[in-house]
Amino acid sequence: MIVNSRTKIVGLLGYPLSHSLSPAIFNYVFNKLNLNWCYLTFPLPSAEKINYFLDCFKDMGFVGLNVTMPYKEAVVPFLDEVSAFARIAGAVNVIHLQDGAFIGYNTDGRGFIDSLRELEEEVKQKKVVILGAGGAARSAALSLAMEGAEKIILANRTRERGEQLAQLIKSRFPQVETVAVRLSAEVKSYLSEADILVNATSVGMDGVSLPLEKEVLASFPTSGLVYDMIYSPPETPLVSWAKENNRKNTNGLPMLLQQARGSFQVWEGSELDLNLLTEAAEAALKEEFNG
Ligand code: NAP
Repeated sequence: MIVNSRTKIVGLLGYPLSHSLSPAIFNYVFNKLNLNWCYLTFPLPSAEKINYFLDCFKDMGFVGLNVTMPYKEAVVPFLDEVSAFARIAGAVNVIHLQDGAFIGYNTDGRGFIDSLRELEEEVKQKKVVILGAGGAARSAALSLAMEGAEKIILANRTRERGEQLAQLIKSRFPQVETVAVRLSAEVKSYLSEADILVNATSVGMDGVSLPLEKEVLASFPTSGLVYDMIYSPPETPLVSWAKENNRKNTNGLPMLLQQARGSFQVWEGSELDLNLLTEAAEAALKEEFNG
């Protein structure tokens, strides 16, 4: 890849970013497609500097950004326009600098639903337990409600945050039964009747922690799908548990790839090939974990 004065710059804003596969995935794809684009990381330690960072980004005429933890909600007030879904979700994960204006989108929810489609997992009339109530959980819960889920159980460490999200779903989708509980053994009775279990907390990124006790997880039906949104490490503790206990499972890589596809669509208006993105992710994971 030759970076020159015409290179289009995109990148990832968040903190910390050392775990992210996005730069390796995007730059692999840009190389393969001979695109004069480059994907950088912008690890910003403090939310107080977001405005300053975005001003500099604008002055330098870069193309756009992905936004990740912990700034998906914090960037919203600094944008000129926000898509309808991102406004409802209160979180942005893609920014496009267009004619000097920052436009924010949220492709997490779409990416999540598309990745379930890839797994041939139907959402309509399903009961889903979501662990977490942060940006990723909000996008997933709203998209599941839009797609016709029957019941959504939100289990979060901070109960009020889960309750706020439950209220949002109830106000927008009154037909969906929505319950907020604490991330604890309280989840057990809901888990026993669920079809899909989604981990949208960051618990498991350390490679050792489970978001729920094994004894609680055991109540999840063997016919259910365990979906861990975490993709690094690729085999999360929850995915390991699901494999050992014969539950269908996935980590967050399919969602990340769908989300990457959605980001490029926003920036360039064309779709990246999913097979090429998968090839890029395999190369990135090999480099990260065996290299
Ligand atoms: P976020 O907005 O910061 O939310 C973090 C969530 O994790 C909150 O619900 C928080 O609970 C919970 N949490 C954090 N530490 C915890 C702990 N020690 N015990 C219990 N709960 C804890 O982050 P996010 O953007 O939603 O991301 C959440 C996860 O999804 C991350 O692992 C991220 O990598 C993953 N993700 C993956 C994709 C993908 O494409 N695969 C996309 C987006 C996100 P409190 O409310 O109590 O703080």
